[in-house]
Amino acid sequence: MASPKSQLASSVLPSTSTHPTSADIDNQPCDSLTKRVNPYVEEIRLQWNMNKVIQRLDTREQCLQFAEDRQLIPREKQCSYHRRPMSLIIQNGLVGTFRCRKSNCRTKSISRATGTWFENVHISLTLLFKLMYMFSRNYSYDLAQIEGATDDRASVLSTKTIADWYSYCREAIVIYELEHNEERTKIGGPNKVVQIDESKFGKRKYNRDRHIEGHWVLGMIEDGSDDLRLEICPDNEQSADILVPLVKKHVQEGSIIHTNSWKAYECLPEHGYIHKKSNHSDHDKKFVAPNTTHTQWIESHWRGLKKVFHMNQFKGNFTEWLVEFAWRRKIKINHLDPFEELLKVINYVYKLEK
Ligand SMILES: [Zn+2]
Repeated sequence: MASPKSQLASSVLPSTSTHPTSADIDNQPCDSLTKRVNPYVEEIRLQWNMNKVIQRLDTREQCLQFAEDRQLIPREKQCSYHRRPMSLIIQNGLVGTFRCRKSNCRTKSISRATGTWFENVHISLTLLFKLMYMFSRNYSYDLAQIEGATDDRASVLSTKTIADWYSYCREAIVIYELEHNEERTKIGGPNKVVQIDESKFGKRKYNRDRHIEGHWVLGMIEDGSDDLRLEICPDNEQSADILVPLVKKHVQEGSIIHTNSWKAYECLPEHGYIHKKSNHSDHDKKFVAPNTTHTQWIESHWRGLKKVFHMNQFKGNFTEWLVEFAWRRKIKINHLDPFEELLKVINYVYKLEK
């Protein structure tokens, strides 16, 4: 795969501290009966933290070993001309270079970073891993700048560098999640209730001067589950032609689907679903009148999502933001280690050639 990192240079986030913190995600409603809200002690103990990052990824040698172990950079490379393993000159460049052992070889030395996550990196490996860690923990730019600074370094990480790396990480997550989205099993099934709702994000009531295009998003969730499925409505439409394929992509036939009273949903029985309408019809007021109907489960999720969305004062690519949100949410709910999850994403997106 061509290195997607190089294609996305511009920042997708505002360069202020308005990036949501993990505390915002913490405040997500997580009132599921089936999931543990709090992690076990062991889960906390085994997770990466800043201490461990500093201990384990402090020197170039440690970082190289780690990158090799996690298959982020190749250990060896064959000369394409002689079909023999090349020598690795470890001290060259950021991660070393490969050179053919034959003196008459036409192959020039090749950077070991070529085609990897480390291609065109202009900061130290130590700093890069630290930045990746800080992204995974959702540090604000301000905090990343402070935590990234060291005594022996005259310069401090610029906001642009932080923004760039955050966007490379985010971009990798989007690729990973989109390529794994298709593999997910459908939610619902016979006798299972799935709630579907759609909501518009990006409305700026209090800032009339600046028009911000809203995005219609369809949310789907099975009762009692935390597996929220989100789809952006193409062309910002909510017609049956748009909504039904999105529902079919995520929800099993035979499910009992609860929706609002929008006409677009009325054809659901034709597609093998049992359709129940909730009694409120005012689309904008439902967020201020919770606990009235059975779509309150999804409404509680929407409220959390909207809260983070507004804190973020969003300016960038909405799809990326939403995918990142869902990724962080999945990590939170399942008590996963965000840094490990990010490494998994990068390992997948920047797969080494065999
Ligand atoms: Zn050669």
